[in-house]
Amino acid sequence: MKISALETFILHVPVTRAGIADSTHALTHWGVPGVMIHTDAGITGFGYTGTHAHLASDRLITSCISECYAPLLVGCDPRETRHLWNKLAHNPPLQWVGRGGISHLALAAVDVALWDIKAKAAQMPLWKLLGGSEEKKVEGYNTNGGWLNWSEQTLVDDCRRLIEEDGYRGVKMKVGHAEIRQDLRRVKAVRNAIGPDAKLMLDANGRWDLPTAQRFGQAAMEFDIFWFEEPIWYDDIAGHARLAASIETPIALGEQLYLLDHFKAFLDAGAVHYLQPDAVRLAGITEWLEVADLALAHRLPVVAHVGDMVHIHLPLSIAHPACGMLEYIPWLRDCFTEPVEVSDGFFVAPQEFGANTTLRPEALEKYGRK
Ligand code: MG
Repeated sequence: MKISALETFILHVPVTRAGIADSTHALTHWGVPGVMIHTDAGITGFGYTGTHAHLASDRLITSCISECYAPLLVGCDPRETRHLWNKLAHNPPLQWVGRGGISHLALAAVDVALWDIKAKAAQMPLWKLLGGSEEKKVEGYNTNGGWLNWSEQTLVDDCRRLIEEDGYRGVKMKVGHAEIRQDLRRVKAVRNAIGPDAKLMLDANGRWDLPTAQRFGQAAMEFDIFWFEEPIWYDDIAGHARLAASIETPIALGEQLYLLDHFKAFLDAGAVHYLQPDAVRLAGITEWLEVADLALAHRLPVVAHVGDMVHIHLPLSIAHPACGMLEYIPWLRDCFTEPVEVSDGFFVAPQEFGANTTLRPEALEKYGRK
């Protein structure tokens, strides 16, 4: 089998609830710059990365795919995923202009499409190709009800509904106000609403400095917080290590880390407990699996970042032994030929052959941008 052509696309899909914000970002659309990789066997692989739907920067990603990577891929066997990953990631002139960032996100889209082809060619869902089983149950936790710009009443109503009516066993809410007393009041209200058994995760999206995160982390302990996510600036390894040593709540991070080496540095420093690698921020499934294996060797759990790239992360979470939970945000649900399902708080294993990334033609027409 040989790669015959690459065809890029950009989707801008409205988020399901208008006007959402965390402590550092406000969103109206989720961006999906990606690629369809065609083969001489008639199989097409779909891969993409995720952005905040900024057309000019999305175009940088798709032009990297079509102008830099496509000439290196046409004529190659798409099933040689690890070889092709190394060929693109360690290509000297491309490596010079970025080992992370735009070229890495572009490589993520390519790598996901290659894995999609490989699983389609094997006539298996990706989780099975990776050695997984439907016996593995992946618990879903919901992140679409805890936004920072919600009123306290809306926040509480949403979180209670997700637990009591929708069957989730955990919810995540955003924190990161200028005054931490405001966050503590909201956390207390949500804990009271969802009861003592539901998991409650907090996400500061890198907003705070170390002493603020320490003060907040110590004060929030009484609300039985499952993890404290991105409490301080994403790249501050020593700061996270100091925080981890000074509060009892586990630290979660990884959605802003681009490289296997970044995760290794956080692990070496004892600066993280829950790893949240994102296959479209890392360079695809190939690098994500390396991070998950590294976490497993440290006996630490992996709970992939999603926002909303759940279709890629579900097969990986079913297959990998370090994973037991997965975030759920349903923004892109209607774009796929087999949308992800959560039933009674657990994800349903997808049955379609491939990486679970095949887009409906209608989605390309409806949300496509040039
Ligand atoms: Mg987060």
